[in-house]
Amino acid sequence: SALELANTYHQPVAYFRQDSLHERNVELQLLADLKIALAQKELTLWLQPKVTSEGTIQSFEALLRWQRSSGEYVPPDKIVALAEQYGLIGQLSLYVFNAALNVIAQFRQQQLFYPIAINLSGSDVITSNFYNALVDLATHRPQLLKYLTLELTENSIVSHQQPLFDKLAVLQKLGFSIALDDFGTGQASLSMLTKLPLDTMKLDKSFLRDIPHNKMQVQLVQTVIQLAKALNLHLVLEGVETDVQRRFMAQLGCKLMQGYFFSKPQPAQHWLDRLKQQPAIS
Ligand code: C2E
Ligand code: MG
Ligand code: MG
Ligand code: MG
Repeated sequence: SALELANTYHQPVAYFRQDSLHERNVELQLLADLKIALAQKELTLWLQPKVTSEGTIQSFEALLRWQRSSGEYVPPDKIVALAEQYGLIGQLSLYVFNAALNVIAQFRQQQLFYPIAINLSGSDVITSNFYNALVDLATHRPQLLKYLTLELTENSIVSHQQPLFDKLAVLQKLGFSIALDDFGTGQASLSMLTKLPLDTMKLDKSFLRDIPHNKMQVQLVQTVIQLAKALNLHLVLEGVETDVQRRFMAQLGCKLMQGYFFSKPQPAQHWLDRLKQQPAIS
């Protein structure tokens, strides 16, 4: 009957509305909690080392971690997406920037001089607050410049282009080292790569998944190695999970790697404990 038809038509719509309403409430609750967490400094940075192919730590990448009172960790990409959507990204990035400076200070107190990379979204750099914070650091504490590096994904740069490139060029001139993150998964064109002020390319972990048994992937990675050379960029391989991958990639000439094989991201304190100068054995 017409009534039945109307019901079968309307019911799913009603369910859908309820679901999306529920999702929206969850999102708004998360947003409210994020604001509190930022104010109370409950977000932390965990560090994952970038290592030479022999396993010597060369630097670290700072990865955002937020554990809610329920015990659950909110994935950083989710935090960043939420912050971008609701205009909090500038604040979040300043938070990460300051947290990274704290880690650098803690390390230096223990005579540990490793560069720390922070992840940025393209909108950060053109946000004057954040850009000014970086320029301020370069102006007032130039001795810290070599300890703070910047990672940007391809997708975060394609939407901004020239205004962003100009600002990145200034930052690079000031002495910041800039890495293109998740290379190969985004929308950067080759011509864009030649215009971008970069020091490092990080090949996305998806390219390593089937290495070494997938011949095509091997050739693709070899091509990227050539490309990095041609562009005069350092290359970091993300997502090295096995010793087989490590050895294979080392043979292809890759010098810098990152991945679970070496270490998962760990709290800063873990590294402070592990790396602190051992007292001399008498
Ligand atoms: P990313 O910058 O590309 O970071 C690498 C991600 O891969 C990290 O996930 C890391 O834990 C993971 N990973 C590292 N080694 C391996 C491996 O061998 N195998 C696998 N399967 N995964 C590995 P995480 O910490 O969940 O971060 C995800 C993304 O969130 C980051 O990708 C970055 O784009 C973003 N992110 C993290 N922290 C921040 C931040 O402070 N600010 C901004 N804007 N974005 C951040
Ligand atoms: Mg990164
Ligand atoms: Mg990456
Ligand atoms: Mg990523």
